[in-house]
Amino acid sequence: MDVEERSRAIRFAIGKTRNDLKKVVAERGRLVLHPGDMERSAACVQCGLCVGSCPSGRWTALNIRRIIRAIQLGVGDPTHDPALWECTTCYACQERCPREVPTCELVRALRNHAFARGLVDDEHVAVARTVVRTGHTIELGDEGREKRVSLGLPEVPPTVLADPAALEEVRMLLSRVGFSQLIHDAFETKEGDS
Ligand code: SF4
Ligand code: SF4
Repeated sequence: MDVEERSRAIRFAIGKTRNDLKKVVAERGRLVLHPGDMERSAACVQCGLCVGSCPSGRWTALNIRRIIRAIQLGVGDPTHDPALWECTTCYACQERCPREVPTCELVRALRNHAFARGLVDDEHVAVARTVVRTGHTIELGDEGREKRVSLGLPEVPPTVLADPAALEEVRMLLSRVGFSQLIHDAFETKEGDS
């Protein structure tokens, strides 16, 4: 096979595996993306500055450059990659990208898409349930309360933990935006799977 034939075969193979990832991400991400964000993803030149800036990617399999490439070409499906959930949404990659690709927003949009398909770790669902129940991502247990008292602090910090009315407001907001139901459904699905 000569060079021309080989490149035609590669183009054909890529064409066959192309999917509508870009369209789906735009749709699922409509609440987190800004006008023009999808178009800007096409400007990526694969320089790798995003990966080099990523604190999470240093310790995990997260590769933001590869994720952007998948969206750009519509090849592959990063929603199946558990590393998608290793992003801390710190925005370091997005702030440094020389092409102004909204990398972090695209991760959030992809996560929306993944979540809607049940592709989310149990740990994330557990944290979200704690938020719905307590207004915090981490629960303050007996040990934490005792520690605070031993240090001369109030048993609970001056947050929603000390203000039941404020906690109710938080829960009402979470409910109004559909978050509570979303997490409830995700948990039920996970329970059903186990
Ligand atoms: S820094 Fe921007 S242009 Fe460079 S690879 Fe990452 S997303 Fe693409
Ligand atoms: S926003 Fe996510 S992908 Fe970007 S640098 Fe931070 S952890 Fe890495």
